[in-house]
Amino acid sequence: MANQNYNPFVNAQTQFDRVAEILELDQGTRDLLRQHCQEIHFTIPVKMDDGTTKVFKAFRMIHNDARGPGKGGLRFHPHETADTVRALSMWMTWKCAAVDIPLGGAKGGVVCDPRTMSKGEQERLCRGYIRRLKSLVGYNIDVPAPDVMTNGQHMMWMLDEYESIMGQRFPGMITGKPVGMGGSLGRTEATGYGVIYCLRECLKNMNIDITKTSASIQGFGNVAEYAARLYTELGGKVVAVSCWNAEDKTAYTFRKLEGCDPAELAAIKDAFGSIDKEKALALGYEVLPGDEWLCQEVDVLIPAALENQITPAVFPKISKKVKVLCEAANGPTTPDCDQLIEDAGIMLIPDFMCNAGGVTCSYFEQVQGNMNYYWPKEEVLEKLENAMTKAFQNIYDLAQEKKLYMRDAAYVVAINRVVNAVKLRGWV
Ligand code: GLU
Repeated sequence: MANQNYNPFVNAQTQFDRVAEILELDQGTRDLLRQHCQEIHFTIPVKMDDGTTKVFKAFRMIHNDARGPGKGGLRFHPHETADTVRALSMWMTWKCAAVDIPLGGAKGGVVCDPRTMSKGEQERLCRGYIRRLKSLVGYNIDVPAPDVMTNGQHMMWMLDEYESIMGQRFPGMITGKPVGMGGSLGRTEATGYGVIYCLRECLKNMNIDITKTSASIQGFGNVAEYAARLYTELGGKVVAVSCWNAEDKTAYTFRKLEGCDPAELAAIKDAFGSIDKEKALALGYEVLPGDEWLCQEVDVLIPAALENQITPAVFPKISKKVKVLCEAANGPTTPDCDQLIEDAGIMLIPDFMCNAGGVTCSYFEQVQGNMNYYWPKEEVLEKLENAMTKAFQNIYDLAQEKKLYMRDAAYVVAINRVVNAVKLRGWV
């Protein structure tokens, strides 16, 4: 569960303010970039299977669209708030700029728990979301995608609703679609693989052999699963994986010191990333408390769940062995922990660089949709690998050259690109 003692939007603004200071941005530019171009708050009435109507609170926000249409996922989560969506859409602006794709930053959320909803209820919720937003989304306005607890099927229902209203086909209106329905091969793997492309480059720069490293991962949704798979393929050892258990309303850490098998764990997880405890025990995994993932004697920590997980309160539990903190989640570290990470000499791969593989592949999905010609998976992954490697190295080199903390270096690269765009447009 997200740590509710921290407000992610305050965190996002704090990170921005720090780098705005380094870059000596003028007040107008700061005012523009620490707020949103557009915020929509609305409700979606849904007829539930039992005949009652339930009203869900929903959001869609565009932080900045100077570099291109708004782009970003849609989360279904019982703890979604306006401020989580504000933070996440702001991070999307930096993410798209960090990998230099021509898109702006946006995000959406619905306060709901799809784990407790039938398929029909989820479909009606998705259609209701788009009915309300129909004139505010579109391939050249704002393009949603999957995120926490949403998937290709949700995207498809939304696209179908949009196209039914418009009376035309608009495959570029949404990304993360199923393959064969305008989706890109490799999209499912893209975010997790992107995380590991960054980690691989980072370890190379640090002269560390990936095959001699071990990692502990928080989360086992789509991002964590594919990160675990590629890391293992490259010779790394995943020692522990932690995930939320909806039934017990708590998290568990699943540990196998000789190395977890990601495919084996994927086979015993549900659609929302919860691993079956009994089956894991039968496969020889130790089942430990949820926060144990953080205390493992590993080289790499990969938080791949929600925001605000690494705080000064839990930082002392991190092993001295940890060399790299690989932020696969959005905003997993609170700003008051950055100094501790830097002082401990832990190399950071900051979130909006680390997890940019998903949106990069969404961009490829749009390009393929525009051509109506789809690339083989190898081609998609090769392009993704090139884009992620180049963007990571650019940020790493800047950090080395200017002796900057990696998060600050990533922000410098991203903010400079966005500032250039708003200046060229004459907004500031
Ligand atoms: N939800 C993903 C993210 O946070 C992907 C967004 C997209 O593809 O637009 O980066």
